[in-house]
Order: sequence, then structure tokens, then C-alpha cells
Amino acid sequence: MCHALRLFTVVCLVLMCGGCATFSPKGVERTAGSEFPLAREGAPACTIVVSENPTPAARLAALELQFHVMKITGAELPIRTDKENVSGPRVLIGDSAAVRAMGFSGSDFAPQEYLIAFRPDTLILIGRDWEDAETNRQELGRPMCCGDTLASTRQRIDYWKTVGCPARSVGEMELPGVYDDQATCYAAYHFIERFCDVRWYGPNETGIMIPAQKTLTVQGADIRRSPALKYRDALWAGNWPFMKGQWGPVTRPEVYLFWRRLRLGGEKWAGNHTFNRKTLDTVFTDPEYQAQGRGRGKQLCYSNPKLVEQVAQMARDFFDGKKDAPEGWKAVGDYFALIPDDNENFCQCEQCTALLRSGKDMRTGQFSSGTVSNYFFSFVNAVAREVRKTHPNKYIATLAYWNYALPPRGFDIEPNVSIAPCLHTCMYAIHKEMRENDMKLYKEWLQEAKAPMFLWNYYHHPMEPAIIDKWKCFPNVMVHNSARSIRMFINDGVRGIFICGEQDMLEAYVIAKLWDDPSQDVDAMLHEFFERYFGASAKPMEKFYLQLERIACNPKNYPPPLHRKNGIDWKNVGWTHLGTAERMKQLGALMDQAQALAQTEQEKRRVGLWRDAIWKWMQDGRAEYLAKLAGQKPNATN
Ligand SMILES: [Zn+2]
Repeated sequence: MCHALRLFTVVCLVLMCGGCATFSPKGVERTAGSEFPLAREGAPACTIVVSENPTPAARLAALELQFHVMKITGAELPIRTDKENVSGPRVLIGDSAAVRAMGFSGSDFAPQEYLIAFRPDTLILIGRDWEDAETNRQELGRPMCCGDTLASTRQRIDYWKTVGCPARSVGEMELPGVYDDQATCYAAYHFIERFCDVRWYGPNETGIMIPAQKTLTVQGADIRRSPALKYRDALWAGNWPFMKGQWGPVTRPEVYLFWRRLRLGGEKWAGNHTFNRKTLDTVFTDPEYQAQGRGRGKQLCYSNPKLVEQVAQMARDFFDGKKDAPEGWKAVGDYFALIPDDNENFCQCEQCTALLRSGKDMRTGQFSSGTVSNYFFSFVNAVAREVRKTHPNKYIATLAYWNYALPPRGFDIEPNVSIAPCLHTCMYAIHKEMRENDMKLYKEWLQEAKAPMFLWNYYHHPMEPAIIDKWKCFPNVMVHNSARSIRMFINDGVRGIFICGEQDMLEAYVIAKLWDDPSQDVDAMLHEFFERYFGASAKPMEKFYLQLERIACNPKNYPPPLHRKNGIDWKNVGWTHLGTAERMKQLGALMDQAQALAQTEQEKRRVGLWRDAIWKWMQDGRAEYLAKLAGQKPNATN
């Protein structure tokens, strides 16, 4: 793209940001922005200034701005501390004496809130950050992902090696923890994305779109905001075939950096099975509260007062910083999780049996029901009441899952119980009964819950069973449907979402963007992706992707008996009703067109990666299915 046009694009983007749909106008301060020069004709036009002791987030933010401006313009912006004399325009990153002199301080911001401010000769990128202090390092916690300790969420990378400039390496640095405050990074990433026109579609060089122009000048109104969803947990790593193949080879450090760039993580919350094999073997060994009957060793007696007291004390000790939750548990920040092990061998003592019996009418015919709700939430409530006496501002976290998915009947959930319904989001487009069952329980919990509500969102069908049983599913692309769900959840006040499973790289990207700002236009985002990513091959690739979505999201393509009341026969629907011979022909033609149109090496590479990851998978899946069918029924033609 020519230089003049490039500049025009950048200025347009900046002007639009004052009030366009890209960012919610709420929280935007409308001060007149001054024009700010980052680079002129390949030479630096400003200096980055950080504190002498920057936060981990400010350190990373400064490097990220330096690297991206260097890639765009060739200019290396010097990084100086606030103790040094700096003349000329300055970018003040994170809290420092220099930024405090301008009237801002990191501690004035709410958690995750950040500011991009344009002042004469000064650009400010700041938010609330976790401080690298001994007391902060001592914080206890068993986080959702990355390992069993908060320290394990603060991965170390060799920054310059990771971004492809090993000659500049100065050794390893620690990244801001996934769940630590790092809003200065959010400010920098928002700025680099919107004002420098960079896109991070994937973790490696193939997935990163960096424009080239020798001069880069930015201008705009101040932006002060925070991500819409406070806990954004989808630490995609290319574990499943589509994303892995679309990304191509990636290193762990690239993935760690990608999570930060997509602003994943956020608030400290965690919830998963806490009464599990490990903690039953090591912590809950008292014979008095072992489950009676067939559940001995597999479950506990959840009506036992001694167990309630022990668990309440564990929560108190955790919140007081006296003793961490045991290994294999989930507890971080203001949340201490209680979730039984994943089996139905519940205690058969008199009291447990009575509570279990009281739920026998709460069957739904779906995976998510309420037969165990009265039983399990009686226990959760008992612990929550105890903990509230001493820690009124802390929460007991739990899942609304499986046979304790529905709220209990006959009593309310305690106000300090933070609930996370497990919802089958990946089924909503095509499975009315599951969607309606989920929506019923979700809305009941919304009414019932007084504490912040979180969600566990399933995105594991059909890929998980396909991987486990070694067959190949039709790609379940549902990006518009995902967007609808996300907007509803955020609008309803859901505070955070954990994703179980992995969509393709593009849907994942859109999910992360909507979690940050649900007002963004999905069609515009998709179109921009195809134009930028595939260039000359954009049109057939966009058609290919949208056609996959149309097929996968049409409920008519899942007739009974492939559609069952409580599920889908994924294995048998894929290549009989979704990827039919005729549709495969059309999709194949689009893929051929895309391949023929690709011009640059990068376009060829990207089309090739998608072709191998998705199209070849589909071709193989169909061929394998038909071969198996032919083996079973020699006369079958299709
Ligand atoms: Zn019992």
C-alpha cells in the first residue's frame, strides 16, 4: 500500500474511534487530541519513558510498542526511564514520576481499566498493574489454568527471540501473570491495534499483520475503558487440529505472548472439581465423613457438619493468606471453589439419601438436570454461611453442572455463592431442546444469584469425541451464533467465561475481541480478516468459511435419528448430511480458486495452512467414513 494512502487510513481510523461502533462511547473522554509523531521517514520521532522500576506490564508494553513501531517504520524508539532527561515528544508507559507529573497514577484506575491519552508532545498509555513486590508474590492461589500456582501463570520468555529478533536478546523476562492486573499492556495493545493498525490473528509471524510505512503519526480523542467481560479464560494453544493446523508451527513463548495480546485472562476466578481423587486421598481422610455405601473413597458425606467445618476453615485460611488451598484445588482472588468429583456414587447415609431423594423429580431428559441440586447446594450453602460470618466479602465459587445444574428447590442459594452454569454453547444453533434446557437453568440462576456469575462454555463438540474416537468431524463453525451468545451473556451481567474446547483460529479471535467489546461488528471483523489475511485469495476463502458455517448451523441438516432429544450423532451426521457430495464439490471449487488466486508467498502459505488444516481434514474424513460404510454395507453407494 502506498505511503499516502496508508497515512490516510491511519488518520481515518483514529477519527472514527471517537464515536464509531468499534468502541463503546461510554468512558471515552472527548478532549481534543493533538497529533503525535511516532516515526518520521524511518527515524524515531519520540522517546518511550517508563519508571525506573516499571511494573511487569509496563516493561512488556514498552517492548511491544518499540517492536511494533520498529517493524512498521524501521525506527527504533529509545526506551528511557523517568530519571533520565528526555527532550522532544514522549510516550509515557505505565506509572512513573513523569506520568504523575501529568496528573495520572496507576492506582487511580479500577482493576483492568486503562487510558490512552493524547497531550501536546505526550502520549500516555497507562492502567492499573500488578506490582512486583514480595507481598504480591506471596499471594496464595490455585488458578484455573497454567499450573497449580499463581507463579506458574507468570511465564518467562526471551522477548526478542520470541518476536523473531534473536540478535537483540537480553535474556529472559517474566511476563505479567495471566490473572494479574496488567492494564498498561491493555492500553498499549489497544493503541498498537487501533492506531498503528496491527492485528494479532495468531501467535507466530504468519498470523501477525503489521503494516509497513516509514512515517507514523497518530491522533485521537482520549480513550478510558476496561474490557467488558472481567474474566476471559480461553488460553488457546493450538491443541486441537484446526487451530494447530491453521497457525502452523508455534513456540510456547509465542503462545504466551499471544494470550497477552488478545487480553485473555483477567480477574482471578477458578472453578473445577475440587473434591477429586487427589484431595480425597490427601486432605479428606477423616473416617467420620467418608461417603457411606458404594461411594466410599469416591465421594464424601456432604451432609456431615464436620466436613462443613473443615472446608469452611480451609476457605478462611486461604482468604486470610495463612494456608493455600491444597494441590489440585481451585481457589484464587476472592473465590474459593467447591465442586464434587465427577461421579454419581454419592453417600447413602440417611440424611444424604433424603436430600438426594428430594431431587428425584428434577430430571430434564438432558445432560443438565437437577437431581443432585438440593443435595449438593445444601452443602455449598452450609459452607457459605460459615465463611460469611468471618469473610462477608468473599465468595464460595461453584459450578451448576450435570445433575446439579438447576438451582435447588425449596431454598435459596446463599448470597455469597458465586455460581458458574455450564452451558452447551456449541449446540445452540442446531439443538433446540438443549438450548432451551440451558436457557431455562441459566435464567433461573440469573434471577437467583446475588453474587457475581461466571460461565463455563462448552465448545468441545464435535471435535472432542472425534479426537478421542479417531474420526473426523465436519467443522462446527458457528461464529455468528457464538457472537449472539456472548452479547447476551455480557448484557445479562455475566462477569467471566471459561471456554472448554477450541474453535478454529478465526472464531477464537472473534470470541476474544467480543469479550473485550461486544459492540464490535462481527461481519466487519470477518471481512477485515479475510481481506488482510488472504489478500488476493480473500473472496473464495471468505465464501468457503461462511459456507461451512451455513451448513453447520442449519438445524435442518440434523434430522432424527441423527438429532436425538439430548444430543447429536456427530459421527454419522458429518459426511451424510453436512459434507454431502454436492457441497464438498462446491467447497472444493472455492478452495481451488483460493489456491489459484494466491499471489504472495505469505498468501500461498496461509491458504495452504487452511487447506491442510480444514479442507484436507474434511476430504479425509469423508473418504474414511465412506470406506468404513462400504466395508460394513457392501451395497451402499453414498
Ligand atoms: Zn451422608
